[in-house]
Amino acid sequence: MEKVALKGTVFDIRRFSTHDGGGIRTTVFLKGCPLSCVWCHNPEGISTRIRPMHFPNKCIGCGICCRLSENSGVVMTEKGIRLDITKQENWDQIIEECPSGAILWDSKTMTVDEVVEEVLKDTPFYKYGGGVTLSGGEPLLQPEFVLSFLKEMKKRNIHTAVETALHVPGERLEEVLPWLDLIYGDFKIFDSEGHKRYTGETNEQIKKNIRFLLESEKRSQVIIRTPMIPGFTTEEDNIGGISRFISKAYSEVSFEILNYNPLGEAKYRLVDRTYCFNENPKHYSGQDMEKFAEIARANGVKNIILEL
Ligand code: SF4
Repeated sequence: MEKVALKGTVFDIRRFSTHDGGGIRTTVFLKGCPLSCVWCHNPEGISTRIRPMHFPNKCIGCGICCRLSENSGVVMTEKGIRLDITKQENWDQIIEECPSGAILWDSKTMTVDEVVEEVLKDTPFYKYGGGVTLSGGEPLLQPEFVLSFLKEMKKRNIHTAVETALHVPGERLEEVLPWLDLIYGDFKIFDSEGHKRYTGETNEQIKKNIRFLLESEKRSQVIIRTPMIPGFTTEEDNIGGISRFISKAYSEVSFEILNYNPLGEAKYRLVDRTYCFNENPKHYSGQDMEKFAEIARANGVKNIILEL
């Protein structure tokens, strides 16, 4: 019987990344996430659906897409081109005939071999402390693809990391753990009700997975991360609760406090989602970040990584 190639839905492969693990890395972004955080800075990665996206900065307003549209999936408005992806259209043709590449699919399916081939182009960087990171969305939403890909990386002795929101069944983590050198696990909101309000899901499974990771043999290769989202995750109670929880699970836990990233806002218009801030806040200063770190220290965390 013919072997069917395993495919994943990939929305970006970013080269020369320096924030997703050690050294210079290639980061593969897999589409789909079980959470929908109101501040998500990759909102195009939340839905599992492959959809067309319009980039106004590339559009020259020629109207070809509107003429090709048969069911009002593309219309010209006062504010420019507007897509309605619920409408049946020949999106392939519309994308192909847009002269400036202003309409594109937001992601594509790729086989494991195709992604391996892509990341191997950066092999020279992997020899000097770099590697490959799987991110998203939630990469563990595509567990078979991830497992197969990680095995290919390990065959070639390439350093592997994953960035996960941890709202996944524990077995999936257990399965991929042997193939990972570094695990970034998010813990955003300590209070389960608050977690549900702002991410769409409670956090019991996340707490379970954090305990599992921090009691595993790989606990020294785990970094728990909390993004500082003004008013959502920055309260003393939240940072304190998370810090007590993780330091109790493993006294040497590494805890990364991520600065707020204001750049995510621009993507919301592209994917028809509403951002959580009317007025986009700024990055926190080094002094502010140090105050957050102080709360974590006071609540038992010794190893703090500050992402300024
Ligand atoms: S075809 Fe492309 S460039 Fe022309 S109006 Fe449509 S999106 Fe803009």
